[in-house]
Amino acid sequence: MNQALTDLQKRDVKHIWHPCSQMKDYEAFPPIVIKKGQGVWLYDEHDRRYLDAVSSWWVNLFGHANPRISRALSEQAFTLEHTIFANFTHEPAIKVAEKLSALAPEGLHKVFFADNGSSAIEVALKMSFQYHMQTGKTKKKRFLALTDAYHGETIGALSVGGVELYNEVYKPLLLDTVRAKGPDCYRCPFHKEPASCNAPCSRFIEDQLKEHHEEITAVIIEPLIQAAAGMKMYPPIYLQRLRALCSQYDVHLIADEIAVGFGRTGTLFACEQAGISPDFMCLSKGLTGGYLPLSAVLTTDQIYQAFYDDYGTMKAFLHSHSYSGNTLACRVALEVLTMFEEEQVIAMIQQKGERMRELATAAFHEAPYVGEYRQVGLVGAIELVANRKTKEPFPSEERIGYQIYQRALAHGLLIRPLGNVLYFMPPYIISDEEMIFMIETTKETIEQFFQDRRVTVE
Ligand SMILES: *Cc1c(COP(=O)(O)O)cnc(C)c1O
Repeated sequence: MNQALTDLQKRDVKHIWHPCSQMKDYEAFPPIVIKKGQGVWLYDEHDRRYLDAVSSWWVNLFGHANPRISRALSEQAFTLEHTIFANFTHEPAIKVAEKLSALAPEGLHKVFFADNGSSAIEVALKMSFQYHMQTGKTKKKRFLALTDAYHGETIGALSVGGVELYNEVYKPLLLDTVRAKGPDCYRCPFHKEPASCNAPCSRFIEDQLKEHHEEITAVIIEPLIQAAAGMKMYPPIYLQRLRALCSQYDVHLIADEIAVGFGRTGTLFACEQAGISPDFMCLSKGLTGGYLPLSAVLTTDQIYQAFYDDYGTMKAFLHSHSYSGNTLACRVALEVLTMFEEEQVIAMIQQKGERMRELATAAFHEAPYVGEYRQVGLVGAIELVANRKTKEPFPSEERIGYQIYQRALAHGLLIRPLGNVLYFMPPYIISDEEMIFMIETTKETIEQFFQDRRVTVE
């Protein structure tokens, strides 16, 4: 991609600081200017198209420029775009709250709106802490989180996050979180198979709770998939154990369903597969089908009641965002939730998930350097390893995943690396033909990469 920069590319690098990027990388690899989206495809300024196999960072569910969602958004924009949300309300927010509380696991009837995933995490952390302060458990000042957890980038969310790459430099600023070793099914320390295991690794959380429960306000977890950690997947039994432990030790359970909610794992919410209800559930990403920033924190009547009193008692939750409950975003979320009701989306995800498993298993089962292909719902991940037997990873400095990502782009496929893991998280509307293209292009790109690498290394 060493061609001359286009005018838009030049103007971009002159002023824009992109997320999650070493900007120096953009010298050799300038940003791709997208002009148009349609279905699973993104079109650049030269009309080259890319299959968006990562749903534009896990947010898109029903394709780009989806006619039904775009129409709802456009009509709402000509009626009411936004209103202050303290003392004011609007029908889209009310309907979204009603639907979320009806669809969510049992008992989550109160909905607090924020405007992105990290903010939803901050809300849940603050509410959990304040609840305990207001119910006499004033020693509870710490959170328990897993190694390799990802909960967002704001300081509170980073404090519970366990991906060193993102939080290392900020450690002096972060909260003092209790950390427990999380599940690691590919390199299971107990040598169990996920399908038949009893989650002995939940013991690591149990040990921490035993020791620290009096000072712990909540355990926060990504149900079924530790996504940013490299799509690390674990069985529902782990969540059942965790739910029981949280109840036993009187700490809240915060389910961060920001990545896995809205059908990703094959059920509307991942917690359903464990049959559990958390005390808080954080939602964002897919909530608006990839259209607008919006997030919601669902919680119980019991927690809500601990804040409900005369103003003078100062028990209110005084958290707000300028765009809390934004009308346009709520209207879009309403359309997305209605599509789930009307269009048998969950059945479609399960069926496409099976198809993806079949195709990907065939493609990667024997592939060199693929240590594991794993999948839950419509999330598939390829873990590349230097040695399939010992599962030895490639050194991160080699940026194997990143190089394959760049090559795949040249073939019209957008997959993203998370270290040595490449993953598929396509929009649910992906067709069979598109899915075949996605899997085949990935397979060929990986093969070609390792072939060329062998030539250059030796
Ligand atoms: C993306 C993500 C977040 C943060 O959401 P943002 O909208 O990017 O702030 C939090 N938790 C999980 C599990 C996520 O995947």
